[in-house]
Amino acid sequence: MNKKTITDIDVSDKKVLVRVDFNVPLSSKDPADDIVVTDDTRIQAAMPTIRYLLDNGAALILCSHLGRPKSTDDKQFAMDPVAARLGDELGIEVIKMDEVIGPSVSDAVAQLQAGQVMLLENTRFLPGEKKNDPDLAGQLADLADVYVNDAFGSAHRAHASTEGAARKMREKGGPAVAGFLMEKELTALGVAVDNPDHPYIAIMGGAKISDKIKLIEHLLKVADKILIGGGMANTFFKAQGKEVGKSLVEDDALPEAQRLLEMAGDRLVLPVDVIVAASLSEESEAFNVPANGIPADQMALDVGLVTIQHFNSVLQGAKLVVWNGPMGVFEVDRFAAGTNGLAMLLGALAAQGATVIVGGGDSAAAVAKAGLSDQMSHISTGGGASLEFLQGITLPGIAALDDK
Ligand code: ADP
Ligand code: MG
Repeated sequence: MNKKTITDIDVSDKKVLVRVDFNVPLSSKDPADDIVVTDDTRIQAAMPTIRYLLDNGAALILCSHLGRPKSTDDKQFAMDPVAARLGDELGIEVIKMDEVIGPSVSDAVAQLQAGQVMLLENTRFLPGEKKNDPDLAGQLADLADVYVNDAFGSAHRAHASTEGAARKMREKGGPAVAGFLMEKELTALGVAVDNPDHPYIAIMGGAKISDKIKLIEHLLKVADKILIGGGMANTFFKAQGKEVGKSLVEDDALPEAQRLLEMAGDRLVLPVDVIVAASLSEESEAFNVPANGIPADQMALDVGLVTIQHFNSVLQGAKLVVWNGPMGVFEVDRFAAGTNGLAMLLGALAAQGATVIVGGGDSAAAVAKAGLSDQMSHISTGGGASLEFLQGITLPGIAALDDK
């Protein structure tokens, strides 16, 4: 990792602006309800950085986006439930601002003491956030002496609170550094980007191929094999001229799928059998069929056991595995066997010393649901950010931080 972190600078008696990823799920969308955070994984993930900065005498100003608010009045996305949850965790009051910037914030920041924690309102309440408005970025940077980015999941976006504020902090001569979560992500994912160990096997699945064509194309250059499952396998099947019945297929992506198949030769490994059903509902019976035997009135919703066994044999001896995208509709138990089976064999592979990296929001959720998160070498907290990082793209939020 060639970026400075919070341990490379002095934070004692400094006001530190920390961009965290508190984009957490909430219990309700009705502002009249008593909305609470339903999954605090992302808050927990930021705790090492928050605790370190507090222990080292900083005064903290935290900021994050939350959901996709339409305006400042979109109160269902206000940060109050996050402040409450964070306060419980820290055992101190979190000073919650009702604005992102403005006089109320500047006055409160002027009063802020070492050891205190302030949380700004949802950065996406201001249109300048997504536009990376230099004024907003400058006002954010002016709140503090130090800028810290611990929001890996937002690092692929050049927004005012990510790229903009870091750049403004550096322009005024202050440090802009990575937090511990950011450092952990860059170090773990960096293994797959700089000089990856071989055999390097990538596994791709999930709903759509169109989101991931660029990543597959990149992986074909750096990985030894790519195993394909999930909904995207159907588009490859159709590109091969197979019957795919009513399966999820992206017709627009067929030419790209064809091109990737030609480019890859035998390095792209498709499922050999799938689980099909007429619908997701309990009433329709599920069958295991060969990949070239999908009935016209059915859809493929998971990979089959023979496929998982085949994937297992390809994976033997792998030193590095990157997995993105579930093998089937894992949210429904009877179509989760392929995903769970793969998670189990990757856990075993990691226990034998392979580095197993999981990226993608749904993939991380699937591994957690299978109870196997602890067995993986690294589960990335960033969905889109991890996909871009693994392609070797320089993420703007990271590029803006100080080099070592
Ligand atoms: P990630 O978030 O890990 O990058 P994606 O968002 O690309 O993964 O894909 C996850 C979704 O793909 C899940 O909701 C899952 O139900 C769906 N999916 C997987 N296999 C299939 C399939 N065969 N048909 C339809 N949807 C599928
Ligand atoms: Mg997803």
